Amino acid sequence: MKRLELKVTYKCTDHCRHCIYCSTDRQGTFLTTSDVERIIRQTRPTGCVLFTGGEASLAPEVVVHGMGFAKIEQSGQRF
Ligand code: SF4
Repeated sequence: MKRLELKVTYKCTDHCRHCIYCSTDRQGTFLTTSDVERIIRQTRPTGCVLFTGGEASLAPEVVVHGMGFAKIEQSGQRF
């Protein structure tokens, strides 16, 4: 798999009429850091990993953790 797109949440503070995900600020579903690690490990993307939603910035700890984990998995380097 080259590119991986992770929807970390469907929550969003905007209320766009055209939203194909019907995202609202009442959505409460978020991926966890463990979810992100498992998905990246299973799919092994060789290209970019996109963190989207909803509004991905509402889950900063998951995005930051996922970015670091994806970089480690792709480079093969472990600390
Ligand atoms: S996810 Fe995008 S399209 Fe949907 S409400 Fe939020 S900003 Fe608008």
